[in-house]
Amino acid sequence: MLTCSDCGREYADDAAAPWRCECGGALDYADQPLPDADHPPEHLDRDRGLWAFEPFLDTERAVTLGEGWTPVVDAPAWDTDFKLESVFPTGSFKDRGAALTVSRAAELGVDRVLEDSSGNAGLAIATYAARAGIDAEIYVPAEAKPGKLRAIERTGADVVRVEGTRGDVTDACVEAVERGEGWYASHAWNPAFFRGTATFALELAAQRDWEVPDAVVTPLGHGTLFLGAYRGFRALRAAGWTDGMPRLLGAQATGAAPVADALGGGAPDNAPSNTAADGIQIREPARLDGILAAIAETDGDAVAVGPEATEREHDRLARAGFHVEPTCATATAALADYRERGVLAPEDDVVVALTGTGLKG
Ligand SMILES: [Zn+2]
Repeated sequence: MLTCSDCGREYADDAAAPWRCECGGALDYADQPLPDADHPPEHLDRDRGLWAFEPFLDTERAVTLGEGWTPVVDAPAWDTDFKLESVFPTGSFKDRGAALTVSRAAELGVDRVLEDSSGNAGLAIATYAARAGIDAEIYVPAEAKPGKLRAIERTGADVVRVEGTRGDVTDACVEAVERGEGWYASHAWNPAFFRGTATFALELAAQRDWEVPDAVVTPLGHGTLFLGAYRGFRALRAAGWTDGMPRLLGAQATGAAPVADALGGGAPDNAPSNTAADGIQIREPARLDGILAAIAETDGDAVAVGPEATEREHDRLARAGFHVEPTCATATAALADYRERGVLAPEDDVVVALTGTGLKG
């Protein structure tokens, strides 16, 4: 069963389910599956990748490329740990969501999936669709990074370049979905995608012997990882495998920071737009209310990071051995900001998600 996060309407979870509620709200699964045991297992089979967490996933047919168990590494220059979500088959955490979403598409017998993306989610969906033998059509901004577009095209997916804003790209894709051209495998709207990104939290807890950190910092656009992490940590606590919730702290880009703006942490209107952070250029997140609720519940926050701090941190990360895309640098810049302002105390145990590789060109 699918349920609307805004009005509570319910829909059967089948191939005929709409991509969103008739009220315009985002749909989610009515229930979070939980494991039978109220304590974590002694051993998880890491060879199964993120499918080691199958009791939380409720998806039977696995389309997999070995995704999951990204490394958690010490980052002494930042006095924190990084979870290297750049280490995935297509170089970003979006593979978590793509694996679950395309598995669901395969279960439903879908033969064509549509997605709109600035690059990472499009490549993830196109790649997992290729693995599953499902056709893919990816809508991208005309000015998206050429390296990302070439990679999407090499999977055999149809790439549709759309002039205009990131919102125009989504509109073009949605029109095609509404014309019946394919199943909407959206990283912003499809609930299966968030079930996949929730495995970020499941893994991180397992890698820390089921102790959740005090806080997690992630880049924040549509909230694909942010909300996924929230749901994963909640599921772990509901299962009795962990105690407590980490604070969820977001890093947005100036010029596209609706969450930070809503919380009073945005930049002044005349601040330069941070377009280098191309992965989080989202002015109208599909699940804004859910993001704000997760922040309220976890004593979280969101801040807008400008282009200078992003460029500085991006260089610093590369010089420390972390080949990540500029979007990730907003997260370490936000970490510094949260500490400077006392949102985070020096003794807080913090994990930062580095969400995508810098090797896509
Ligand atoms: Zn609704």
